[in-house]
Amino acid sequence: MRLRIFHYVLLIFLSLSVTRCGWMVESFFPLTLDELLGKQFYEAAVLGQEGMRIKHDEKLRSYIQGIADRVLQSNLIQYKKDFPYKVTILDDDGVINAVCAPGGYIFVYTGLLHFVKNEATLAGILAHEIAHAEKRHSMKQLSSSIATYFAIYITLSFILGPELAEHASGWASLSSNLLSLANSRGSEEEADEFGFQYMRATPYYPGASANFFRDIKAWRQKHLGESEDSIPLGKYLSTHPLDDDRIAESERRVKEAGIKEPDEKSFFKERYTKMIHSTLGESKNQEEPESEPKSTDLKTSK
Ligand SMILES: [Zn+2]
Repeated sequence: MRLRIFHYVLLIFLSLSVTRCGWMVESFFPLTLDELLGKQFYEAAVLGQEGMRIKHDEKLRSYIQGIADRVLQSNLIQYKKDFPYKVTILDDDGVINAVCAPGGYIFVYTGLLHFVKNEATLAGILAHEIAHAEKRHSMKQLSSSIATYFAIYITLSFILGPELAEHASGWASLSSNLLSLANSRGSEEEADEFGFQYMRATPYYPGASANFFRDIKAWRQKHLGESEDSIPLGKYLSTHPLDDDRIAESERRVKEAGIKEPDEKSFFKERYTKMIHSTLGESKNQEEPESEPKSTDLKTSK
């Protein structure tokens, strides 16, 4: 009986945690857990698992790392000593995306490097990704999945008994596909806000990431009628919602911060183009994909 009461209290606690798990991560999850999970993902990439293929080009990698390092200069970044913040390039021209695994393992797809036109815009995207790691968004999502799991498990064990409940609930899908979890709208807004703040410590125009959204919008209009799952942007859109609000928000931040119209020089376009062309050459998917771009397995979140 006492065990039942304990389970009941635990169930209430965990049910509450499902909706308010953020504080749980901040208070009880050590940073080493983020690092451990991120490292596992990195090692999977090294082994070429989950269809990932690392682009081994140290000249290009250290150039992109240099852009990330300028963002990491921001005093607002708390975990630069705890997380490695290491850039890895994934070789796939068909994916226009970047992700940051927990613990600061940053992955940039070659498709994104081709799509982006200058350093400042890429820095804006990296700043957004770094903010996801700093704010521990994946961990918060994962903790909510774990809390959900236990809540289901305990409920089932009341009904079926602990042994059957174990079979009924299953662990399998919990930690897999960590990076394909779409962030909540609130997490995206937070990453945009902090990404913008981090950008203010760099030599780049802090509102540059809005250019990326505008380019995506233009690209989508050009490819109207195509299913989002069949275009390289599908993967980006599956984890990052896109709409006019996000562009407007970016413009609002720039205005409120009193940032003047950007100088061409603050985008570092020439240096970027030169590096991308000399290391990656022209992309097949850059403007008009000739062959069918690789389809993505995820639904868009919008
Ligand atoms: Zn995001």
